[in-house]
Amino acid sequence: MNIRLGDCSKGNASCIECMILFKPVLLGYPFILLAIYIIPFLIFYTMYRIFVKCTYLCGVILKINSYMSNRTFTMIKPDAVRAGNIGNILQMINAGGFRIVAMKYTRLTLDQAGKFYEVHKERTFYGELTEFMSSGPIVAAILEKDNAVADFRTLIGATNPAQAAEGTIRKKYAASIGENAVHGSDSDDNAKIEADFFFNGLERF
Ligand code: ATP
Ligand code: MG
Repeated sequence: MNIRLGDCSKGNASCIECMILFKPVLLGYPFILLAIYIIPFLIFYTMYRIFVKCTYLCGVILKINSYMSNRTFTMIKPDAVRAGNIGNILQMINAGGFRIVAMKYTRLTLDQAGKFYEVHKERTFYGELTEFMSSGPIVAAILEKDNAVADFRTLIGATNPAQAAEGTIRKKYAASIGENAVHGSDSDDNAKIEADFFFNGLERF
């Protein structure tokens, strides 16, 4: 039998084009259909689904990031609680434009204070700090505002009240560098870690 190149379109068994393209399809070879149509479709569809999922996950991650950057964590420390300054400090926090998302009146054990301030473990004042922070009740709170972490650090003032700007919480209510009335998170990441240390999801509004 002579095999000739593409001189018909009717499924001629002696025509190469018919043998490669038309005949298998016309005769319904399922594996050819699978290779030509179904597998590419499945690959395309899977890639499309992966793309949709990735887009959704990126959206969720961006939303969580922007949500966290609007929050900070604070404690009214034992010295300020003992001095009866909870109300005054909360008033300054409200006047500073912060919304209270969560709040708790509690007392840290020595171990918990040690864990919370673990980053300062090697510092000479670590023992003094953890004893002080566990010496009486504190008020822990999550605060919300645009640019919350930086704005709250501005509101509380320098660590040492002697160097704190006029009108700041530490200038008004702190007695010393060790007993300095309030804590404020120093980054978005630490704000999240510290908020999670005190509050579960059901305690935030
Ligand atoms: P905080 O983390 O409580 O908001 P801060 O970020 O201003 O304070 P840090 O350097 O993180 O300051 O120190 C943590 C805490 O350790 C201070 O708030 C203070 O209570 C205590 N502290 C810091 N430096 C000294 C020091 N030189 N002597 C005694 N205590 C100190
Ligand atoms: Mg700090």
